[in-house]
Amino acid sequence: MVSADIPAAPASRQATCLNCHAPLTGPFCAECGQRDIPPYPSVRELAVDAFAEVSGWDGRFATTIRTLVRRPGRLTREFLEGRRARYISPLRLYLIASLVYFLLAATAPDVRLDDGRTMFLGLRVTPNISVDSTPSRAQRVGTAAANSFDARQPLQQAARDSILAEIARAPAFMQPFLRRSITDPAGFRRGILEALPRMLFALLPVFAVIVALFYRGRKYPEHLYFAIHLHVFVFLALSLTELSKFTAKPPLVAVVAAISLLGIPVYATLAFRGNYGGSLLMNLTKEIAIGAIYLATCAVAFITMIYWVSLLG
Ligand SMILES: [Zn+2]
Repeated sequence: MVSADIPAAPASRQATCLNCHAPLTGPFCAECGQRDIPPYPSVRELAVDAFAEVSGWDGRFATTIRTLVRRPGRLTREFLEGRRARYISPLRLYLIASLVYFLLAATAPDVRLDDGRTMFLGLRVTPNISVDSTPSRAQRVGTAAANSFDARQPLQQAARDSILAEIARAPAFMQPFLRRSITDPAGFRRGILEALPRMLFALLPVFAVIVALFYRGRKYPEHLYFAIHLHVFVFLALSLTELSKFTAKPPLVAVVAAISLLGIPVYATLAFRGNYGGSLLMNLTKEIAIGAIYLATCAVAFITMIYWVSLLG
């Protein structure tokens, strides 16, 4: 029942559909589906309409998120069984969640611990080893590249020249990546941040294929809906961590990060079971296998993407 949820369109109430001239019996045309909207809308009507259209900000958005979070696997079933009108479409939901997450990730402040290390996902900490104290050349180059990338600032000229000279002796396939980290860390970072959402989006159908290998005898779109809904939850959980960074309190960030990182596998297990049914053990086993294959796929895609971005610069 979309009609009840859409904010009351300015009371135009034409007698016939403006699109196909069929007589109107409700807020939507029974023949062509067009909503009964006033011709020549005012700017305000247009804005309200566009906002409701894009965001589903008419109750559908809240209903969708609530169902997704509280009833793992249920949203996918709802779509498959045809109860769709009260929810935002999976694709739009994914795009919104991805946009929100990457906006937060790009704007959230770095949370630094007392010793100057940076929190990543709230958990990983980048060691801040000085360039000269590491023994091997590979470590020296790697650390310099990581520090420069992390600081988003190119190294000082002298240090930079010596590192670039060392990079010239590194394995050829690693050179573009290392060099770009040293010479243009900010641009490299930006390039990766721009490519990452596209890469994850492109991997959705791949994830669905992997799931299909383990849950046979179902149609592919079911796996695709499931993949989308699961990824949306992951974006929501990671967004919470990014949000917590705005408090600039490392202990709080660590707690929120731990909760969301633990929450993801727990949710995934419940979602697999909620959508596909079957025993907990069977779902867990398949989930671990799916997770391992997908992580390996993501790692390959990620390395390829980083390499590609480093070549573009
Ligand atoms: Zn019509």
